[in-house]
Parts: sequence; C-alpha cells; structure tokens
Amino acid sequence: MIKAIQAGAKTFEQVGKRTGVGTGPCGGRRCGSLVRGMLGEPVENCKDCDWPMLVGATCPRCDYAKQEN
Ligand SMILES: [Zn+2]
Repeated sequence: MIKAIQAGAKTFEQVGKRTGVGTGPCGGRRCGSLVRGMLGEPVENCKDCDWPMLVGATCPRCDYAKQEN
C-alpha cells in the first residue's frame, strides 16, 4: 500500500482501489487507520492494544475482535 501512495493515491478509497485494502474480510477496519495515518490523517495508538487508530474514533482492532466473539 505504500507503493500505491507513492504512485499518487491520495485518499483511502484510491489506495483501496490500487491495493485491495478495505475490500478484504475485515472491510478495512484493521488496516484502514494505518492507511489513513500514512495519508497524513491524525492517528493515535489504542490504549488497549497499541493499534494505530484515528483520533477520536473507536479502535478498529478492538471493535473487530468484539465482533468475532
Ligand atoms: Zn484497540
């Protein structure tokens, strides 16, 4: 996905089209905030699992784990 950004993808949707991020079984919930952070959106680490997440959002990883159970 880094290559997609270097190749000119400017938004999460554009990166998704190039790499398939956001189209897998997790729907981008695991990797979406990683991509957004690379695109310059504000990201902080989850207090529970240390996963990068958008500032002010719920942690996608903890949220995903809850849905798995
Ligand atoms: Zn978390």
